[in-house]
Amino acid sequence: MENLHTITNVDSLISRPYTLTVIVPVFNEESVLPIFHDRLERALANINETWEVIYIDDGSNDNSYAILQNLKVLSTNVGIARFARNFGKEAAMSAGLNLAAGEAAVVIDSDLQDPPELIPSMLDAWHQGSDIVNMRRRQRKGESWLKKITAHLFYRIINRLSEVPVPEDVGDFRLLSRRAINALNLLEERNRFMKGLFAWIGYKNVTLDYDREARAAGETKWRYWRLWNFALEGITGFTVAPLKIATYLGSICSGVTIIYAVYFLSKTLMVGEPVKGFPTLIVTVLILGGLQLMAIGVIGEYLGRLFIESKRRPLYLLDEYQPSLDIAKLESS
Ligand code: UDP
Ligand code: MG
Repeated sequence: MENLHTITNVDSLISRPYTLTVIVPVFNEESVLPIFHDRLERALANINETWEVIYIDDGSNDNSYAILQNLKVLSTNVGIARFARNFGKEAAMSAGLNLAAGEAAVVIDSDLQDPPELIPSMLDAWHQGSDIVNMRRRQRKGESWLKKITAHLFYRIINRLSEVPVPEDVGDFRLLSRRAINALNLLEERNRFMKGLFAWIGYKNVTLDYDREARAAGETKWRYWRLWNFALEGITGFTVAPLKIATYLGSICSGVTIIYAVYFLSKTLMVGEPVKGFPTLIVTVLILGGLQLMAIGVIGEYLGRLFIESKRRPLYLLDEYQPSLDIAKLESS
């Protein structure tokens, strides 16, 4: 495989048609898309840079794709891609980063929770030399306290366990420089815990604060079960700490058992043992059995992920891709 260093150098020689690519994952967002695009255009009307926007339709089954096609007819700088089915937001972001033609890219939600008006200040930070501009939510409007607490706990846990710190309360809304994009495109794992991947690549980071809005319309696609799986994915994708915990728990248990066995044997030899102690027996058997099952479960989580990684399936399949006009021209010339 080519190494990162050469890729970055070669890449700086390529001239790119746009300064900025805005990447927008879309899944059943018919009610907000027109408002979103309007606000995006307004927000970027006054910047002195060329920009394109790539909408990734993540297998929507409403009118989102038709709306996107209309937007594309009206503006030359709109590119649209449609997935063959719903592959998830992480895959949509990866697709956007693969297709992006800009010197920098901004990933933004289509539900207007991330205000497009902040993009110019993100560009400023990038011009001042940052590779990654993280956007930290100062508050989360319209989200339940349960979601806030679980999100907070999740960051605490993952930062305890993983080697690279994942900044708390930073969502997927962020700007990436070209070399950060290239670095991410090199990561081939199927487990796309993007928040972790963004942190893993390193480079110069800067974090800006903003107020996260409530959804403009439509509803969230994240149910708690999905969030739980997402959290598991994040933890198992970034650290083997649970495996270590299983090892330590096992060692502690055997240690205690050995001491207990020595005590018990000497007692039996010296004073004899009338048959008693059923409660001790049953408790020990159950606790050890439970611990073993848990440890096997932890191993299973990793094994399952290894299995998925080993198949090397693509992250997503495109059903259709219509690049923005400038890119299309470039490709045909
Ligand atoms: N999204 C997606 N694929 C999915 C789920 C969501 O592309 O399977 C997009 C969605 O259209 C939105 C963004 O990801 O642009 C964030 O989704 P959502 O607002 O539902 O998540 P939340 O803001 O509640 O975390
Ligand atoms: Mg949202």
